[in-house]
Amino acid sequence: MINFEYVKANSAQSASEARIKNGASQFIAGGTNLVDLMKKGITAPERLIDINALPLKEISLTPKGLSIGALVPNSVAADHETVKTKYPLLAMALNAGASAQLRNMATVGGNIMQRTRCSYFYDTTMPCNKRNPGTGCSAVEGYNRMHAIFGASEQCIAVHPSDMCVALAALNATVQVSGTKGTRKIPFADFHRLPADTPQLDTNLQVGELITAVSIPAHSFNKAYYLKVRDRLSYAFALVSVAVALDVKDGMIRSAAIAMGGVAHKPWRLYEVEEFVTGKPISKELFTEAASIAMTGAKTYTHNQYKIKLGKAAIIEALTKASS
Ligand SMILES: Cc1cc2nc3c(=O)[nH]c(=O)nc-3n(C[C@H](O)[C@H](O)[C@H](O)COP(=O)(O)OP(=O)(O)OC[C@H]3O[C@@H](n4cnc5c(N)ncnc54)[C@H](O)[C@@H]3O)c2cc1C
Repeated sequence: MINFEYVKANSAQSASEARIKNGASQFIAGGTNLVDLMKKGITAPERLIDINALPLKEISLTPKGLSIGALVPNSVAADHETVKTKYPLLAMALNAGASAQLRNMATVGGNIMQRTRCSYFYDTTMPCNKRNPGTGCSAVEGYNRMHAIFGASEQCIAVHPSDMCVALAALNATVQVSGTKGTRKIPFADFHRLPADTPQLDTNLQVGELITAVSIPAHSFNKAYYLKVRDRLSYAFALVSVAVALDVKDGMIRSAAIAMGGVAHKPWRLYEVEEFVTGKPISKELFTEAASIAMTGAKTYTHNQYKIKLGKAAIIEALTKASS
């Protein structure tokens, strides 16, 4: 690990200013991702701007929806009574992530900004366009078992690793950010990027912009389920995951919000599937057809072909569990 400066920010404005002043600086929150990346030589910030003293730890509910401060630990958000009762999908997704110890340190803002777990991104002896633009993607011809089946490019086939973000994508969250030029709100669907020719960019956040909170609108969903399929029951990233929220009355789906994790460079929202199941009665056949629609257009690589079958099964199970 290289030497770096360490400063504590006392306001969002000063944090953003410090970040812009030194382009090689980075914000640090829980440090559970950033410190690992620094230790492994994947990133080498000249200065760390510690944002932990900022007043971004509130969870509040208004008639318009829920707001969660960027510095709320993942475990606190998951255990919050309002989150558990009114946004159970989010609580389930948070609890599926990492381990209890990590969830105590990991913040909501840091979770959104965490980087891919592609093994080639972590292996500094191998080419990786995300780590070193222009060097190539080792995963395309390599061991790509964990990799994307949607939205990838020849430049990068990594997936976004977050569980929480899959629920936030399904629930139409908005990311609140502040920078030196003011504040703005970014719809969750527009926050993370597909790799295209710039896989080094994970998000549309501008340099110096700080995530201050995440807002989730009020909703009418009365059923929810987050299904995560992984190699181990704890401490493992999703092979595929499915977040489902449904509004069901008398066995009829009145509206649906569905997203997948582990399949793309960003949480993958299944708009066509949502439209397909809306207004239809719950049945095994409906969910089977929905799963086939979800996998239309998937592109696999040598080692991740199993994700088609697994993805379909996961969608059927998540829809079945959510609606029962
Ligand atoms: C062994 C292990 C297993 C894990 N398993 C899972 C899992 O199964 N599912 C899952 O979802 N996650 C998993 N994680 C990832 C974990 O959830 C993230 O490391 C964590 O959420 C990052 O939050 P943090 O506060 O520690 O971020 P940090 O490490 O402090 O920061 C991460 C990045 O976010 C930026 N950042 C932080 N806060 C802000 C902000 N407010 N505004 C702008 N940028 C910001 C930092 O500059 C940095 O680039 C795992 C991590 C580990 C180490």
